[in-house]
Amino acid sequence: MAALCRSRHRWKRTKWFHVLTRTLTERSDYDLVVIGGGSGGLACSKEAALLGQRVAVLDYVEPSAKGTKWGLGGTCVNVGCIPKKLMHQAALLGTAVKDAKKFGWQITGPVCHDWATMAEAIQNHVRSLNWGHRVQLQDKKVKYLNMKGSLVDEHTVKGLTKAGKETILTAKNVVIATGGRPKYPTSIPGAMEHGITSDDIFWLKKTPGKTLVVGASYVALECAGFLTGIGLDTTVMVRSIALRGFDQQIAGLVTDYMETYGTKFAWKCVPKRVDKLSSGALQVTWTDTQTGHEHKDTYDSVLWAVGRVPETKALGLDKLGVRINKETGKIVLGADESTSVPNIYAFGDIGEGRPELTPTAIKAGKLLSHRLFGQSTELMNYDNVPTTVFTPLEYGCVGLSEEEAESRHGKDGIEVYHAFYKPLEFTVAERDASQCYIKVVCERGGDQKILGLHFTGPNAGEVTQGFALGFQCGATYSHLLQTVGIHPTCAEEVVKVNITKRSGLDPTVTGC
Ligand code: FAD
Ligand code: NAP
Repeated sequence: MAALCRSRHRWKRTKWFHVLTRTLTERSDYDLVVIGGGSGGLACSKEAALLGQRVAVLDYVEPSAKGTKWGLGGTCVNVGCIPKKLMHQAALLGTAVKDAKKFGWQITGPVCHDWATMAEAIQNHVRSLNWGHRVQLQDKKVKYLNMKGSLVDEHTVKGLTKAGKETILTAKNVVIATGGRPKYPTSIPGAMEHGITSDDIFWLKKTPGKTLVVGASYVALECAGFLTGIGLDTTVMVRSIALRGFDQQIAGLVTDYMETYGTKFAWKCVPKRVDKLSSGALQVTWTDTQTGHEHKDTYDSVLWAVGRVPETKALGLDKLGVRINKETGKIVLGADESTSVPNIYAFGDIGEGRPELTPTAIKAGKLLSHRLFGQSTELMNYDNVPTTVFTPLEYGCVGLSEEEAESRHGKDGIEVYHAFYKPLEFTVAERDASQCYIKVVCERGGDQKILGLHFTGPNAGEVTQGFALGFQCGATYSHLLQTVGIHPTCAEEVVKVNITKRSGLDPTVTGC
């Protein structure tokens, strides 16, 4: 018995000795451990592996408050860009079916939309992407661990499986790319109990029915847009303005178009409570902040699209002294994505002041790997990131809004060229093109450098992506005029803008 105790004691000592030497000698199991297998984390880990590094990535999805779960790939793949764009496409097809009759298609009987068919097809596509990500990690020899990661010290990460099994990983460098999750307004009674968020909408098996969308930014307007487009009674509740941070003239065009498309707007209204009636319907009480009056209506679903919170709480960052912005909860970063603790880096939605967009997370992750493991010193350029809001009338932009250009350069320091145009495809279809608009904001003096470019119309993302290259190269108004258009397209209208706002002339494009 005594011998057994001695041997156990020796084993314990040996185990501790190993743990101690591992810490003291800084022996690393990996060159890089990435916490978070979303857009940024996957890109960073695969790039590091291509550069010959030993890499592990931990990804773990905490189910939404409604119990929705999904696979590897993060927000964009599962509950963001991908299902959103596909549902947007479903809505555009509804409009195309209406147009089709004008173009001679004989469509007999009523055309109606079936949520379950759409959702199943999109969910299957997302599952195929989850699988694709796993295969890619395997092919590139990146170790994938379906574990929740937290930091033990600057070289040690603890992984925890759903069943509670722990794994300790050591690494020379640790990357945090844990993104964010939708926010619930917890002060509103019934909000969490009865509402859903963008973490749920794309995974619903049954139609959400008559829906109230609360919020007025990207997520709210995009979701309200596709819900309206597939034929659902949809209301957007806006507490202040739509699309904060975007050019407000264009934000107005986007919401005007949505109104004519069928989306209802409750402007300057704030929700007060959500109650479930015995019929199962959700009764929402809200206040009109302009009149102070209270209103009530019933909905089948309430979708909260009131912003996102970063996923930092479970990471143990405070223990290590990783600096966080107390107001936003995001990680404070240097231009090289370094945190306040050496060897720990972060980027993507978790980063303070970073755009919450997939391409910036991917690019930042790849560049970080090249700086850490290649010979590169190239930093991520977060200026002039192009973006598109996939509302029924899409809005793409790059650079400054008119308001921002004016505040930086003064009203007399900028020249705004603009045009209302009619997409050719709207003509035969007899669609109203009142909100199809182009705005090019330029410096007024010198060679009229372009400060901002804005486009509403079909395929705005495709159009804006091309012009973003010119923008990156420092394009001027004369470069724009020297560019030959492609006819007949909507994009060619951008290279033809010649009416200044200052002139007060009618900016409506006439003729070809
Ligand atoms: P994420 O993609 O969120 O990945 C983080 C991952 O880390 C997640 O899988 C998460 O579960 C995991 N994780 C969190 N904590 C831990 C932990 N402790 N351990 C292990 N894993 C953890 N962007 C665009 O560019 N275009 C669009 O059209 C677009 N549409 C959007 C639509 C919606 C509805 C939403 C919500 C977002 C959209 N975005 C869009 C934004 C885009 O999805 C995000 O900017 C992008 O996914 C951020 O990438 P990330 O790597 O920072 O984080
Ligand atoms: P967001 O941009 O933070 O907007 C939150 C919206 O909710 C705002 O309109 C805000 O109004 C409103 N709001 C906040 N609290 C509210 C409350 N208590 N009651 C009523 N309204 C409230 O959040 P988001 O739309 O979720 O988007 C998050 C990020 O995801 C975006 O910044 C974007 O980068 C990314 N994204 C990108 C795309 C794309 O590329 N197409 C699409 C979707 C999302 P106020 O203006 O009054 O504050």
